[in-house]
Amino acid sequence: MAIPSNSSPLANTPVREQLVGTSILVVDDVSDNRSLLTRRLELQGHTVTAVGSGSAALAVLHERPFDVVLLDVMMPHMSGYEVLERIKDDPALRHLPIIMVSALDTMESVARCIELGAEDYLHKPFNPVLLRARIQSCLAKKRLRDQEQSAYAAIEAANLTKSEFIAQVAHELNTPLTAIRGHADLLLRGLHGAISESQTESVQAIRRSSDLMTALVADLADVSRIESGHLRLVASAVALPDVVALVAYMFHEQVAAKYQTLTVQMPPDLPPVQADRTRLIQTLNNLISNASKYTPDGGQITVQAETTAAPNTVRVAVRDSGIGMSADDQQRIFQKFFRSANEQAQHVSGTGLGLHITRHLVELQGGRIWFESALGQGSVFHFTIPAAEEYL
Ligand code: ADP
Repeated sequence: MAIPSNSSPLANTPVREQLVGTSILVVDDVSDNRSLLTRRLELQGHTVTAVGSGSAALAVLHERPFDVVLLDVMMPHMSGYEVLERIKDDPALRHLPIIMVSALDTMESVARCIELGAEDYLHKPFNPVLLRARIQSCLAKKRLRDQEQSAYAAIEAANLTKSEFIAQVAHELNTPLTAIRGHADLLLRGLHGAISESQTESVQAIRRSSDLMTALVADLADVSRIESGHLRLVASAVALPDVVALVAYMFHEQVAAKYQTLTVQMPPDLPPVQADRTRLIQTLNNLISNASKYTPDGGQITVQAETTAAPNTVRVAVRDSGIGMSADDQQRIFQKFFRSANEQAQHVSGTGLGLHITRHLVELQGGRIWFESALGQGSVFHFTIPAAEEYL
């Protein structure tokens, strides 16, 4: 099995200390050269393994970790170039620093080694001071790379743990939230007897708050699924006008309560789209909800769709005559938890997760989302979605 180069015990060791105990692989087909180089490097405090061919080098590299390889260019059977190429093609060895060693002093040879990914190039016969300096510089770079890699792996692992934790908490919160909503409904419908006006107001407040919490829990669960790569979409041919009509119906009370008009314009020859129906509903739900939330009473919302010529996609636009967004806000609206500081948006409830999730949903379905907006002049959000293949 390949041993990743970052498994070196030197990963967090300062450079000076690295010189002692640094493990170096010397690859040279000439036995005298191997012995000479081994002696020099051992005198400098390194642990040296010497092999006489490219294939022996690749075998030993897959057996145990090294910190640096000194690789002869001119070798029979497998040249140093080929060994270098194979090392750089192997994800487990790719980051290992390779110093090419050669009696050849041509520009082409040096250039080829650098192009193939060698860290450095040394001419034979060696100058011991130069040899020491080059190895030290390689080790310093490798140490930084190892530290970067282990920090990155630790961040990724912590992020995954956090996402799994959020998914678990969201799941656990669903049961009590369903119970709270259910009992609030029973009280409001008078099934436990009549309640006073002030009691009704309190229960309605409980219902609204639990609805908000349910939306937040669902958004958090989606974000954690997106981040852990566990969001699964099931695409099929979907009739977009049906989905838009359904979402428009879901909003008719909210829109009417704000004296807004919601107009749907769909061409009759619109092809079905290739989409996950539930997630398409969620996308439209978020955009129409925002259009209504961030548009003052009496405003207009329009949902339009059209086929675009190439490639075969359907473009949907959700337009509103609302508060619009400042240039600063426009830079950040797809960020997780972003909520505008605009005074008119402040009193509107929301989680700041809707557009972040929506963008992922659109992109996971092979589409793109963008918008145009001007403060005080409304916004229009566009997204594309592929047309269903069987209808093309
Ligand atoms: P929220 O739950 O806050 O609505 P979103 O992620 O859906 O979260 O939107 C992020 C922010 O982008 C909103 O808080 C709002 O400031 C701004 N925004 C989104 N849609 C619109 C819109 N149609 N008009 C004006 N501002 C919008």
